[in-house]
Amino acid sequence: MPQAAPPPRRGPASIAQPAPARPAYDAAAHRQCLASLAADGARFESLPDRVYTSQCSALGAVRLLDIGMPVTNLGQMTCPLADALTRWTRDATQKAALAWLSAPVVRIESFGTYSCRPINNVAGARLSEHGLSNAVDIAGFVLANGRRITVLDDWNGPDAYARNFLRAVHDAGCRRFQVVLGPDANALHRNHFHFDMGPGRACR
Ligand SMILES: [Zn+2]
Repeated sequence: MPQAAPPPRRGPASIAQPAPARPAYDAAAHRQCLASLAADGARFESLPDRVYTSQCSALGAVRLLDIGMPVTNLGQMTCPLADALTRWTRDATQKAALAWLSAPVVRIESFGTYSCRPINNVAGARLSEHGLSNAVDIAGFVLANGRRITVLDDWNGPDAYARNFLRAVHDAGCRRFQVVLGPDANALHRNHFHFDMGPGRACR
């Protein structure tokens, strides 16, 4: 005999939209990720799991110590994010810089990783992947010749080579991260690329 559907459940008042399904934290997958990160040549330390609030946490997180290039402002990040960032830095960034700018990148500037806040800082919106230490914001690149390329100034700037470089590293990000948002996504991303390893999928 069919049962009546349960009444719709109301979510917590602070979260307006349901989060996409997220696979449960998996210890075996985490060990595999740490091995992959080491195989990619990253030096890192594993961090103890931390839960900050009812929503914000750092589970299965690492701190990158050396991925072959300094990346400023990096804090704790989940292992899959650290692994994707290591590969993107090593493979995509250097290749694009040599192809479009004829100089290697010597430093990447980030706006950081962990931040306990809703998406786009909109009150009531779903928790940002930054709140789970699962996102990084990349703002600029310093070249060996001293030149500095930033998302803010160069995405739509006058130099076609710099524009092509930024589009190349943005698109390469789309092959390694789950979600990539840049200046074409919305005005909030006019000055950085947002990369995350959440359950969503976007390349904008
Ligand atoms: Zn972000």
